[in-house]
Amino acid sequence: MSEDTNAPRFEQPDPALYSPTKKGPIGNFFAPVAGFGVTFSTIFRPTVTEEYPFKKVPTRPRYHGLHKLNRYADGLEKCIGCELCAWACPADAIYVEAAANTPGAQYSPGERYGRVYQVNYLRCIFCAYCIQACPTRALTMSNDYEIAGPTREDMIYEKHQLLVPLAEGMLNPPHPMVEGTTDADYYQGTITGPTQEQIDWVKDNRPDDPSLSTARATQKAEVAQ
Ligand code: SF4
Ligand code: SF4
Repeated sequence: MSEDTNAPRFEQPDPALYSPTKKGPIGNFFAPVAGFGVTFSTIFRPTVTEEYPFKKVPTRPRYHGLHKLNRYADGLEKCIGCELCAWACPADAIYVEAAANTPGAQYSPGERYGRVYQVNYLRCIFCAYCIQACPTRALTMSNDYEIAGPTREDMIYEKHQLLVPLAEGMLNPPHPMVEGTTDADYYQGTITGPTQEQIDWVKDNRPDDPSLSTARATQKAEVAQ
């Protein structure tokens, strides 16, 4: 058979490139204990062990941690159940089910609210695409990195685990929107707190609501008109 003259020709590498480094007399003398050199040189360095969970190291300010579902200043939920976050998620980690707001059960400004909201933290890769997609800034990410659970089901966080608690002076929904406002007023940030009319509505419909003892009327209806 004749030799293929078009075949690529490979040169043998220089054996010195992969031969063991030759030691001198001092190197040979210390060779049996050379491995301890790393140990001894590390002993005198400052310790870098983090004593978690007894001492928690703060994260960078823009760290992507646990999701939060936020509220407006009067306590209504910002989530309108539009599902844009779920569609934007590359890991299919978010599940949303919307429901209609009604005059007797208004949870968020506008027509709909997020009745079911789940984030599956076994899937989430903390990319924050969902945050970018949210049109109402309902969804943000906190610095909280303590996300754990004993079962797979426990790693699916439900709405009540993600919804931020009521801040001081807020009124627990459902309750009507500030009188004379539209959802656009809420989106534009003109709501600064509950009105007396909203507080009275909750008193009439849920007199035992615990937020009645702390809710403060800080917004006048005519201001928002
Ligand atoms: S952070 Fe990324 S992966 Fe996690 S829920 Fe949001 S979009 Fe999905
Ligand atoms: S969190 Fe934002 S994007 Fe997701 S359903 Fe609610 S309003 Fe829509």
